[in-house]
Amino acid sequence: MPNSPSNLLDDTNVTVLKGVGKHLAATLAKLGIVTVSDLLFHLPMRYVDKTRITPIGDVRLHIHSVIQGRVTGNQINFGKRRSLSVTLDDGTGTISLRFFHFNAAQKTQMSPGAIVRCYAEPRRGTTGLEFYHPEYSIVDDEHQTPMEETLSPVYGLTEGISQGRLRKLTELAVAQLRTHAPQELLPEQINRQFGIASLSEALDYLHFPPPSASVELLTEGHHPCQQRLAFEELLAHYAVRQEMRMLAQTEKGPTMTADEAITATFLKSLPFSLTGAQLRVFEEIKTDMCKAVPMLRMVQGDVGSGKTLVAALAAIMAAQAGYQVAIVAPTSILAEQHFANFTQWLKPLGIGTTWLVGRLTASQKRQALADITENRAQVVIGTHALFQEGVNFHRLGLTVIDEQHRFGVDQRLRLREKNIDNERPHQLVMTATPIPRTLAMTAYAELDYSVIDELPPGRKPINTVLIKQKRRIAVIERIEKACKEGKQVYWVCPLVEESETLEVANAEATATELQEIMPDVTVGLVHGRLKPAEKDHVMAEFKTAKLRLLVATTVIEVGVDVPNANLMIIENPERLGLAQLHQLRGRVGRGSAASHCVLMYGDKLSQNARERLNVLRESNDGFVIAQKDLELRGPGELLGTRQTGDMQFRIADTQRDAHMVEQIHQIGKQLMQEENANIKNLIARWFGKNKVYAQV
Ligand code: ADP
Ligand code: MG
Repeated sequence: MPNSPSNLLDDTNVTVLKGVGKHLAATLAKLGIVTVSDLLFHLPMRYVDKTRITPIGDVRLHIHSVIQGRVTGNQINFGKRRSLSVTLDDGTGTISLRFFHFNAAQKTQMSPGAIVRCYAEPRRGTTGLEFYHPEYSIVDDEHQTPMEETLSPVYGLTEGISQGRLRKLTELAVAQLRTHAPQELLPEQINRQFGIASLSEALDYLHFPPPSASVELLTEGHHPCQQRLAFEELLAHYAVRQEMRMLAQTEKGPTMTADEAITATFLKSLPFSLTGAQLRVFEEIKTDMCKAVPMLRMVQGDVGSGKTLVAALAAIMAAQAGYQVAIVAPTSILAEQHFANFTQWLKPLGIGTTWLVGRLTASQKRQALADITENRAQVVIGTHALFQEGVNFHRLGLTVIDEQHRFGVDQRLRLREKNIDNERPHQLVMTATPIPRTLAMTAYAELDYSVIDELPPGRKPINTVLIKQKRRIAVIERIEKACKEGKQVYWVCPLVEESETLEVANAEATATELQEIMPDVTVGLVHGRLKPAEKDHVMAEFKTAKLRLLVATTVIEVGVDVPNANLMIIENPERLGLAQLHQLRGRVGRGSAASHCVLMYGDKLSQNARERLNVLRESNDGFVIAQKDLELRGPGELLGTRQTGDMQFRIADTQRDAHMVEQIHQIGKQLMQEENANIKNLIARWFGKNKVYAQV
């Protein structure tokens, strides 16, 4: 096996590539790309087919296509947002292109008579189907752009770099592969097992699939080259997490004793009894907290399974043992919700609480910080503001991280700073993401794992229906009716994976449209581009029912409890993973009224997509849904779930690749036992050299 001793590409800065200056290097760094090797390991998110032109008459909603036609109209619209629209005709039909960002030259370029070829995903616009911000080129006698011969990779981008540019750079990097093979870090048998010759071959193939490549395999992520890399990535995750775990085991944790009396008093004060699962998970936590090594435990529990109360029990135990507790939530609205709950629960027990979020006034913040330092507040609830400097706990003994997938592992580690007794606080992380146990043992190998596998009794299942986009008006009437009856509604706009700008533009357009159709309904909008304070403001108004309808992108706040909302519309659910849909849907069904979720799909739904969505109609169980999701992943349709925070895989997919987990464990253990040097290189390759992972 060719196993180049050189690790050259790992040490070569991207600036050696032609055309990469300081500025571009800084942009690439935002994507985690510093070396040529990083560029090679920035793998395509998916592939699109630009090998043929689709007649305009055959263009279908949401199916990415290349079209070519003559410009028949070209005008600037002065609406709420200025836009340029260009009409194309190819003899089979007409369609409008719409640009929100454009210049005068573009308008002139696309004058009537010009032939334009463009590529985009058609969406519903004011004139019927429209192409928003297509990639385009002018076709004339001098510029006969040939069609692509192979599938085109689609890369994750950031502001300041285009698909085309990144692709050109990748081309340069791949050229280097031929002379400097990246080091093979896995045992030899692995390449053979996946039927590939070398890592170089796999990288080359994935960036530039040959004309014969199967769209289906590549789109599903089942191609052997992808699987080979996913294997390596998961192994790197396992290794880094396992190292964290081993380090943690050598540390001193706060040894606490449980106070059964206070626990009993607390449980008696609740209007309901805990489920068996909640009690069992608390027992597991209790056992950990009584030990002399710091706890690192993940609690998985479906939306609504009552994780907060389990956290409260742990917090009471720590406070009673003389320690402080930090509870971290991903958004201030969620922190506020927890603060209200914890204060109500803990005050009668004589346990002080405070909270810390970015938007407190200077004097409130000063007060909170003093209460923390001087131990007047034993339980502190906050956002990532708690990770910041200036927060000095008197004696931190437990950290609880809610909705942990929203936080990076480095943020989590920052809350493990030692306390005055030189002890590492216990840590509990909570998640609603259904992760099979074996997988959790790989991707979160540093954590022990508990599951709350039971919902509180009496929950009403959410009634889920499938409806066509064509019946949008009927759906809107239903929203109007719900709002008139005093209820509240969520509307989730489609996922646009490659461009957040487009996703936001689309959500803005939807909010405007809905407001125009329903002038009496108060409509709000949240999306990922809002500043945290703006987002909080909108969420707070929705919480207090000042807003009746909340239009949101798929980055909708996690964990928010608005029991009065009992209807959710999800547009184009066929693009989302079932697990993600299940989580979104979990925002409703929290009150006493029956709740509904309307999955409004594009005009055509494949057999497979229908089957997948039917799973949601039939089940309300996160684990069942995740399992079915895996079995039914439809080729070429699902965009995959955008990964945030902790679980950022470049190519691995925790559901799809779960079958590799056992072998990964076995090889990972073996390499670590041998203290194989490749482990270090593997971690550096996939996580960068300077990450905090190794410094638990
Ligand atoms: P999640 O696991 O999604 O964070 P929460 O902790 O927010 O769930 O709990 C959801 C709701 O269920 C809350 O209103 C909470 O008070 C309630 N709840 C929690 N445990 C029980 C229980 N054992 N019986 C009845 N209601 C419960
Ligand atoms: Mg929660």
